[in-house]
Amino acid sequence: MFLLQQYNTIAKVAKENHATIVAVSKTKPIEDILEAYNFGVRDFGENKINELLEKQKQLPSDIKWHLIGHLQSNKVKQIVPFIYLIHSVDSISLLEKINNEAVKINKVVAVLLQIHIAQEEHKYGFNLNVVEEYFKENKFKEFQNVQICGFMGMATYTENKSQIQKEFSTLNNLFKKIKNDYSNKYPHFKILSMGMSGDYTIALENGSNMIRVGSSIF
Ligand SMILES: *Cc1c(COP(=O)(O)O)cnc(C)c1O
Repeated sequence: MFLLQQYNTIAKVAKENHATIVAVSKTKPIEDILEAYNFGVRDFGENKINELLEKQKQLPSDIKWHLIGHLQSNKVKQIVPFIYLIHSVDSISLLEKINNEAVKINKVVAVLLQIHIAQEEHKYGFNLNVVEEYFKENKFKEFQNVQICGFMGMATYTENKSQIQKEFSTLNNLFKKIKNDYSNKYPHFKILSMGMSGDYTIALENGSNMIRVGSSIF
């Protein structure tokens, strides 16, 4: 079930902060997505490729599909034709693979670089310092058919709000720096995707302009 009232509450806060909401529909049935769609929601996020492909086939073509989960290189080819934004680019080799597939079909693919800000080891992403070096070395500029549109980050899963705040603020600082210093080379670098159901208010207070909420709206 799509929870319209909860969605509207979050949408109001998001709008005040000039942020986009991605409705995370992973594990939810087609009917739930259609319910949200019929209320005007167009941005949906999925984290598993097979599930995403299955849903994309069955749902309206004007849906903007966001990939928010880890992407294996052997799956890139299947999503490049329709994906709206890949939030989870976590290596140069993946970027290269996305670029190669995009070249083949003469498309430009919008991506975010996932940055590892949490304490948990298992979460994917570039190291903050490493990614800053890569910008200095112009490493992302080699890929003509990929648009680097910003960063995505996930905070530690914890009750400790100041920990979460610290992590989001750290990513926001790097985001602002890159946006400021590299706006000529990366004119599309504008999106900071941070915040889920449990921490989106902290994320918005710390510069997020794209939140990914699932459990609170379905
Ligand atoms: C599941 C997921 C979300 C949404 O989480 P909720 O707590 O259900 O709002 C956001 N981002 C990513 C990367 C996810 O995997």
